[in-house]
Amino acid sequence: MQHLDGNVLAGPLIELFGRDMTTATGRCSGCGDVSVLARALVYPDAPGFTVRCRICADVLFTLVQGDEKLWLDLRGLTGLQPPR
Ligand SMILES: [Zn+2]
Repeated sequence: MQHLDGNVLAGPLIELFGRDMTTATGRCSGCGDVSVLARALVYPDAPGFTVRCRICADVLFTLVQGDEKLWLDLRGLTGLQPPR
């Protein structure tokens, strides 16, 4: 399956957080890698977005658009630091 980089998440994350979160720093719960969300591997067809670690490929988070709500599951991140 083809993946995109984390910049494709800019619009949906602005909708959720009210600011650009592609430069937010996340820590992978699988391998401990710390990097900006823009560098993550994004699979846009799964349904919604599945975001995977660029090092170990574990799922960092998923973002799914429901009928009226966005659903964000962050269980693959042990930390998320918004940009300053
Ligand atoms: Zn990882």
